[in-house]
Amino acid sequence: MTISPIPVLDDAAVRVAVRARPLLEKEIQENCQECVTYSSDRSEVTVGKERRFTFDHVFGPHVGQEEVYMACVKPLVESCIAGYNATVLAYGQTGSGKTHTMGSANSNLLQEHELGILPRVIHHLYKSIEEHKKAEFLVKCSFVEIHNEEIKDLLHPETPSKSIFIREDANGDIVLAGVREEVVTSFEDMMKLLELGSTNRTTGSTLMNQHSSRSHAIFTIIVEQRSIEENTDIDVITAKFHLVDLAGSERAKRTGAVGLRFKESITINSGLLALGNVISALGDERKRGQHVPYRQSKLTRLLQDSLGGNSRTCMIACISLADINQEETLNTLKYANRARNIHNKPIINR
Ligand code: ADP
Ligand code: MG
Repeated sequence: MTISPIPVLDDAAVRVAVRARPLLEKEIQENCQECVTYSSDRSEVTVGKERRFTFDHVFGPHVGQEEVYMACVKPLVESCIAGYNATVLAYGQTGSGKTHTMGSANSNLLQEHELGILPRVIHHLYKSIEEHKKAEFLVKCSFVEIHNEEIKDLLHPETPSKSIFIREDANGDIVLAGVREEVVTSFEDMMKLLELGSTNRTTGSTLMNQHSSRSHAIFTIIVEQRSIEENTDIDVITAKFHLVDLAGSERAKRTGAVGLRFKESITINSGLLALGNVISALGDERKRGQHVPYRQSKLTRLLQDSLGGNSRTCMIACISLADINQEETLNTLKYANRARNIHNKPIINR
């Protein structure tokens, strides 16, 4: 296969999946009941008795990491190698399984079947590169965190946030000036960077979860390929793959947060709000060609060239089955539904 100019993608730019995590030991001990059911064809999820939603994929609590990866992310890795930008986002309240699903924490002690999306992407990427005989690859990565609208370089924590800027270059590509991208030549080296960055991630404690993260963590893989065959149309193709472990989506009032933490909660919600607005504008046929509000937050600005346009996005909405989380689960599904823009089937005879 030679490198040729990239055709415009004609399938859906934004896909939305829902993943429910099983009840935790603590929830079982507290006698929590399950308040979510799903259809056997994996397309519908119902909260309580009457709120039903339709998504591209619905994964119940017994669906493993491999299956989620194969259905939602593998096609994006393949399109990234073909030269398209891609983004995977994990959304949901704190404790709903975002970090578990994304694999953005240290994976050292995990067994293979427990590995989340990130290690699988890295593995698949290097395997594909090895098999690819017609091009030379240069792979770089960065790992940043957005916290209270400040960007931190998780691979170089000594870099002051004030020296990091989001810029758009002449080609319309988004550049994170001040963030040092690392050139990586193997699976093992990229895994080490993932581990280093995740250790440097800011965590704060709230009543909901001692280690709940109040920040968005964005791991970015940049794949540059140069054809080694003569007579190809294009010299270098660059594609970016963002893997985003979003901040907890819960409302400030539920966490019991006050003071500084309260301020953080509000800022986080505004980032997620901006993301919702951008994705919904992208998914709405009627708004095609209209203004997409990328500039409303650092998060959406950073993802600007990898959401919409010719790139592919998958949002994985993580939910808890437990009845005590019903309100947040409903909020998550409404948010995800807005991103998806599928019309829900009316409920009959309920
Ligand atoms: P979040 O990042 O959304 O705050 P975590 O990924 O840390 O949530 O998950 C919270 C807890 O639930 C962790 O102990 C995690 O191991 C567990 N968990 C999450 N999703 C699953 C799942 N699909 N299967 C089994 N355990 C899960
Ligand atoms: Mg987390």
